[in-house]
Amino acid sequence: MRITAFKFSIALMLGSLCSAYAQQNPNRGDGDLHILPVQGNIYMLVGAGANITVSAGYDGTLLVDTGSEQMTDRVLAAVKQLAITVAGTPYPPSPCVGLRCPGGAGSGAFNHWGWSSPAINTIIASPAPVKPIRYIINTSIDSDHTGGNAKIAKAGVTFTGGNVARGPGGSGETAEVWAFETVLNRMTETKVPEVAWPAETYYTPSYKWNGFFNGEGIQLFHTPAAHTDGDTIVYFRYSDVISAGDVFSITSYPVIDVAKGGSIQGSIDALNKILEIAIPQFRSQGGTYIIPGHGRLCDEGDVANYRNMVVKIRDRIQDMIKNDKTLQQIKAARPTLDYDGRYGSPDAFIEAVYRSLTQKR
Ligand SMILES: [Zn+2]
Repeated sequence: MRITAFKFSIALMLGSLCSAYAQQNPNRGDGDLHILPVQGNIYMLVGAGANITVSAGYDGTLLVDTGSEQMTDRVLAAVKQLAITVAGTPYPPSPCVGLRCPGGAGSGAFNHWGWSSPAINTIIASPAPVKPIRYIINTSIDSDHTGGNAKIAKAGVTFTGGNVARGPGGSGETAEVWAFETVLNRMTETKVPEVAWPAETYYTPSYKWNGFFNGEGIQLFHTPAAHTDGDTIVYFRYSDVISAGDVFSITSYPVIDVAKGGSIQGSIDALNKILEIAIPQFRSQGGTYIIPGHGRLCDEGDVANYRNMVVKIRDRIQDMIKNDKTLQQIKAARPTLDYDGRYGSPDAFIEAVYRSLTQKR
């Protein structure tokens, strides 16, 4: 009953956001924003540059990445609409079942207003005020992932201090931006305006979010020297969704920014890290869902296929380097030929692999 109501309200919302969806190629983007319910509390916002991961619920909203700057107003409108649909309706619909749902056990009779029938709740419950955007996590420094930081952080309000009530509005001035330490370092060096900087950074291999958010623990994993030297993958432990950022981006070959500390081995390690966390439901399908930096929603099988492709091409290029081939000769030998139809121009990828393998010597 609740799940039906939930799907209906999401469908209404999607209908208004993406009328032209059907005839478009989702990889190319159609200039529109689309919201895809992923699993548990997690939604995927597509079309604002990089994919944006949204956790929406009773504590407020958390975003992984903020898209490109020119899409920010539309992102804010879409996120607000989602928050109202998920948490601000008189009888908030939730697909959550089980003991650890936000607001109490189960989505049945025993919900966060106590024991009563859904019919009674619709009569006695008034809409809860929708809580603001609390946190932003950046998966890397790229402008299509951090472009909305300044404006979206300003539109939000974080929690502050242990003894401040988590009321609507909270009392921090902006949403709190999180990232791996090197993202902050590079932003200060490149004179990005301070309001877009991460206010909180971590520098350890992994970081457990301090406290549950929307009923679940969140874990950040730093994947060293992969796409850049500041990559984070975010794992939502109850919803069982990984937001991967550009260490896993399926619309192209891996983008390895060697100048910003990226490397081919780090990229492979990052993909293996995702495979280490993910648990498929059946024959590599379903189970943990993975939101890539760009492209469609994936599961473990998709990550494994992508990882295998990257390892094969790395091995081919490594072999040619061992046989003293130059970069020009390697490009001419077309080591990516069997994948070019799927992933497009390989030149930047081959150069990055070549550079990072020859740098090591
Ligand atoms: Zn990107």
